[in-house]
Amino acid sequence: MAGRTLIFTGPPGSGKGTQAAHMRDRLGFVPLSSGDTLRAEIKAGSDIGKQAAQYVQAGTLVPDDIITGVMLAAVSRQPTSAGVILDGFPRTVGQAEALDDGLAAAGRKVDAVIDFRIDDGLIVERIVNRRICKNCGATYNIRFCPPKVANVCDRCGGELMQRVDDREDVIRTRLATYREQTTPLIEFYDRRGLLRSVDASREAPAVESDVVALIEALG
Ligand code: AMP
Repeated sequence: MAGRTLIFTGPPGSGKGTQAAHMRDRLGFVPLSSGDTLRAEIKAGSDIGKQAAQYVQAGTLVPDDIITGVMLAAVSRQPTSAGVILDGFPRTVGQAEALDDGLAAAGRKVDAVIDFRIDDGLIVERIVNRRICKNCGATYNIRFCPPKVANVCDRCGGELMQRVDDREDVIRTRLATYREQTTPLIEFYDRRGLLRSVDASREAPAVESDVVALIEALG
């Protein structure tokens, strides 16, 4: 499916990153995750990483100009023929407006926004049990989707770790930030008729079928 620009919104732990990866495998989309991009910048010790680190660790939002610059650069590295999924960006109306301008300059527009809906209680349970492979980034849940051998990645044998911002106190901050900053964004896209939603509290395969159906309905 060439050239579509989709946005996945939803609170941390709603499974949008997992589904973006499935859409890469099933439909050839390029997932561009703002959180992953920032973590890579922080790990590399770049200027952007240094500016972003304090916000990411605290679970608050990185300033709009920093994240917008990074994400628009990531989109413009993709050929216009490639379908892209923006995962975790935009998160504020200011970012959404900057995105519109940047996409227009890149010959794209937002085609649809899929909102992953789920209650906070379920999210906290999912995130405190989340573990990520240090090596390949594969995600596990030690309660619901554990690796075959404790602490070892099924895919590459790498060691699993917990993200520093996946602690319960930071999760609560991230959720409060999300609800406060991102609710106006959902309304912004709803008014334009671009908003779709999925019930993200279900098992991943059920959510995946709904996401595929929504994308296929775009034509
Ligand atoms: P995530 O992996 O999407 O939960 O993002 C991890 C952290 O990266 C967030 O808690 C923010 O500090 C930062 N971040 C990710 N995306 C954005 C964004 N669109 N705007 C501002 N900060 C962001």
